[in-house]
Amino acid sequence: MQEQQLVEEITRQVVERLNGLGGYESENKIPIGVSARHVHLTREHIDILFGKGYQLHKKKTLMGGQFAAEECVTLVGTKLRAIENVRILGPERKASQVEVARTDAIRLGLNPPVRESGNVAGSAPIALVGPAGALYLKEGCIIAKRHIHMSPADGEKFGVKDGDIVKVRFANGRGGVFEEVQIRVDKSFTLEMHIDTDEANGLGVGKDMGILIK
Ligand SMILES: [Zn+2]
Repeated sequence: MQEQQLVEEITRQVVERLNGLGGYESENKIPIGVSARHVHLTREHIDILFGKGYQLHKKKTLMGGQFAAEECVTLVGTKLRAIENVRILGPERKASQVEVARTDAIRLGLNPPVRESGNVAGSAPIALVGPAGALYLKEGCIIAKRHIHMSPADGEKFGVKDGDIVKVRFANGRGGVFEEVQIRVDKSFTLEMHIDTDEANGLGVGKDMGILIK
């Protein structure tokens, strides 16, 4: 290879690496967001944990009208194993839901199913402790099914629709492909794939890009 060609090739590879693609040239880039364990609560459950009429305080705005609250709770599993300082996401919901990674579940002594957010029927039981009281949920603890949020325009661009299942390849970190990734389309969504801390740590990825594969 000529010296100039070599320099061009190296430059191309460095630029790709900086773009987070590590050699994969693709239009199907998806930004990654890593979701740490968190809790969604009903009005009634906020009353129990924080006091009657208590209002959550917004710490950070998230997509789809959601926000990370200043408030945290303690999760308690079997044999009183606990995880403290677990963030609450607002606004209030119709059903309370606790989303943990598999490692958290093992630590708590629980065996939650992998579920789409909002589908808590028959999921694992868990207890929550707040400054004003404690709460036992007969169901509500899940491991979130990995998913990609996108707008209808993104759906058209990628040729996918709400509920579709795709794969996402990672060229960064340790590399790998996640299967069973659910597409979620809504006007209020911006393009982002959500994985949990176990998934991110397993592939050694963080604020990276994945490649959508159909
Ligand atoms: Zn999400």
